[in-house]
Amino acid sequence: MPPLADRHGRRFPYLRLSITPACNFRCRYCLPHGYHAEAGSAGPLTLDEIARLLRGFAELGMQKLRITGGEPGVRRDLVEVLRTAAAAPGLKKLAMTTNGTLLSRRLHAWMDAGLNAINVSVDSLDRAAFARITGHDRLDDILHGVDMALDAELPAVKLNAVLLRGVNDNELPRWLDYLRDHAVGLRFIELMQTGDNLAFFRDHHVRAEALAGELRERGWQALPRALDDGPAREYTHPDYAGRIGIIAPYAKDFCAGCNRLRVTATGDLRLCLFGEFGIPLRKYLARDDQLPDLVRAIGGQIGRKEQGHFLHQGRTGITPHLASTGG
Ligand code: SAM
Ligand code: SF4
Repeated sequence: MPPLADRHGRRFPYLRLSITPACNFRCRYCLPHGYHAEAGSAGPLTLDEIARLLRGFAELGMQKLRITGGEPGVRRDLVEVLRTAAAAPGLKKLAMTTNGTLLSRRLHAWMDAGLNAINVSVDSLDRAAFARITGHDRLDDILHGVDMALDAELPAVKLNAVLLRGVNDNELPRWLDYLRDHAVGLRFIELMQTGDNLAFFRDHHVRAEALAGELRERGWQALPRALDDGPAREYTHPDYAGRIGIIAPYAKDFCAGCNRLRVTATGDLRLCLFGEFGIPLRKYLARDDQLPDLVRAIGGQIGRKEQGHFLHQGRTGITPHLASTGG
């Protein structure tokens, strides 16, 4: 099969698969009241369903897979999920996004299962602010897990920090101290509006581009962008071991670099994080001999991918919070 491409010339070698909508944190911009299962909701994809799904995407040129959620660590069979994912034909990179609560305990099991890249969400380096944002006083243990991942030479270690006005948007000096001797890729992510967080968004949204100017003034240099780089703009500085990436979803042309598709924990294909519809794939995942139908279903829908999101108009699609779609 030819690799997936849409009518706007974008290719999609990158899949983000949510393996659970559940989470043990209560981040104020995501699940401020914690996770509550919807009555009657279907369970997440099983290992067999995940294996079939990934075979389908492999036929369509998938090279990179990110396991996300919700919190992937709340799934008891996470190691088996990773092992199943690592076996997908042609996969070059197996990444996971996690809040890091299990990192220090499970890192080696995850790496043994095939994980070779991790993004850990660390919204603040201030212990009290971290606890206020996430509902849990776990910063020290999570940072210890990050150090372990660096010591273990996990090939890619990144940290995600969502920028929040009046909460953590004064921490650049603290982050720079950290990056001097930590070889991580820090990503500052601009807060996105979702179906559930409008009031919080109005109070705390701050444009990430403002940071870019500050970085340049401090001698950080933007790396040239390759076509398939994805949406982060990366900066480096010779005096620092770490890098900084800025993800600014409200910036002009943000969607032009889109290289990813998403599948929810229950097997709905989402062409955009903020799309208006999901495409149910689970019905093609019951048996191995459905592979051609699965591949046709995915390939046949890619033409419906819009050129960009409609966040500027306040249209957040069917995403109540990112835990539901897999952020
Ligand atoms: N639970 C894991 C974690 O927090 O890393 C994985 C899922 S979480 C939805 C994935 C990423 O999305 C996290 O880095 C989180 O901070 C980010 N995120 C969640 N809601 C967001 C929002 N409204 N705007 C921007 N980023 C958001
Ligand atoms: Fe959980 Fe991640 Fe959402 Fe925080 S951002 S509530 S850790 S899913």
